[in-house]
Amino acid sequence: MSTGRTGILGGSFDPIHYGHLAVAEEVRVVLQLNRVLIIPAGEQPLKPGGNVAEPVHRLAMARLACVGNPFFEVSSIEIDRPGPSYTYVTLQLLYDQGLDDLYLILGADSVADLPRWREVRRILELAHIVGVSRPGVSFDLAYLSQIVPGLMERLIVIDGPRLDISSTDLRRRVAHGRPIRYQTPDAVVAYIETHGLYR
Ligand code: ATP
Ligand code: MG
Repeated sequence: MSTGRTGILGGSFDPIHYGHLAVAEEVRVVLQLNRVLIIPAGEQPLKPGGNVAEPVHRLAMARLACVGNPFFEVSSIEIDRPGPSYTYVTLQLLYDQGLDDLYLILGADSVADLPRWREVRRILELAHIVGVSRPGVSFDLAYLSQIVPGLMERLIVIDGPRLDISSTDLRRRVAHGRPIRYQTPDAVVAYIETHGLYR
């Protein structure tokens, strides 16, 4: 029995926002995915400063944001295991669970970052890469295809919704007492207030 196509959107989600959700929905519809797994990272190997909010909070906010979309599923697979969250390990675990048609969704900044990721070759064996546009960032395909062998065969580029929203900006806004409403679901805004995050 086939489990169908599964999209994977990983990230800090510190906090999750409409940029993430709109990208996930766009890719789901365009590529006719059966589900999209939203996977908050435990430790981010490439974010030396670390995440700001605790994993439980990032997970809870992701869950609140995904209520109402039956195709979105939040997974704690990275938060549940100790140490740095390497994507190749996550993909392997999902594959071993029977999800054998994986689409790894990356915003343009993450695509540009791919050469720094662990075991990119294994990632390309396990998943298609879906590169989605993001305002203010771009990737150089000619360059990337040279230093990441096999990328071109696996890369699908999608012109996404281009929402200029970032978690960094939302954290800054909260710290300065500026609003974040309409950039992330109301339930996430309320959660951030209740728990005093990012102040
Ligand atoms: P931070 O500013 O803390 O890095 P972020 O907004 O970039 O937060 P991440 O959790 O780092 O969010 O991103 C997870 C994934 O979602 C990455 O692949 C990133 O490129 C993508 N992404 C995030 N925001 C957008 C957006 N507005 N448009 C397209 N892709 C996005
Ligand atoms: Mg980011």
